[in-house]
Amino acid sequence: MTVATARLLPVLLLVLHAAGAPAQDGVKHCLKCKDERLLRCPAHGTLDLSDEPGALFCSFVAGCETCGGTGRIDCDHCEAPEAEARLAKQRLAVIAAAPGMAKLDEAMGRTLRKAESAHFQLVFELDELKVDKQRLDGHALLHLYLKRLEELYAAYTTTLGVEDQEFAKKSRVLVWGML
Ligand SMILES: [Zn+2]
Ligand SMILES: [Zn+2]
Ligand SMILES: [Zn+2]
Repeated sequence: MTVATARLLPVLLLVLHAAGAPAQDGVKHCLKCKDERLLRCPAHGTLDLSDEPGALFCSFVAGCETCGGTGRIDCDHCEAPEAEARLAKQRLAVIAAAPGMAKLDEAMGRTLRKAESAHFQLVFELDELKVDKQRLDGHALLHLYLKRLEELYAAYTTTLGVEDQEFAKKSRVLVWGML
C-alpha cells in the first residue's frame, strides 16, 4: 500500500459509513408526508391545522368525515403503525368529546366556536384579536387560549399540589364576542 492510498482508506471508510447511516437506522423516508407519517386533511382548504393535535375537539374541523375531526389523515405512502394508532386515538377523543360540546350549542341555540382539551371546554367567540402584535383569527384564538388554559392548569395544580381527580369535571370557559 502506498502512502497516498493508506491516507485515503480511512476517509473512504468514513464516507461509506455516512452513506450507510440512513439505511441502518431503519427509517424509511417519505417525501409525501415529510416523515410526519400523517397528512393534513384536504377537506379544510387553507385553514391552519397545525394546532389540531393539541386539542381533543375543535369545532372548525369536527364533523369532517374525511379526518373524523382530527385535521389529519393517514399517509398512504408510509407504513407507520404508531402514527396510525395515534390518529385512531385522536378520532376516538373527538367522538368522546362531541356530546358535551353539542350540549353547549343546544344551550345557546346555535353552533358555537368551541374546543376541548384534557381539562377544559372552551367557547371562544371573538372574530379576531391582536396578540403579540399579530392579528389572530377566531380559529387561531381558540387554539391559543386552549393552550394557555392548559398552561395555567399545569401551573395551578403544581403550585397547589393537587391532582386531576380532585376536579369533579372539566372547567368550562366561555368568551363571548360583542353583538
Ligand atoms: Zn408518508
Ligand atoms: Zn382547530
Ligand atoms: Zn377533515
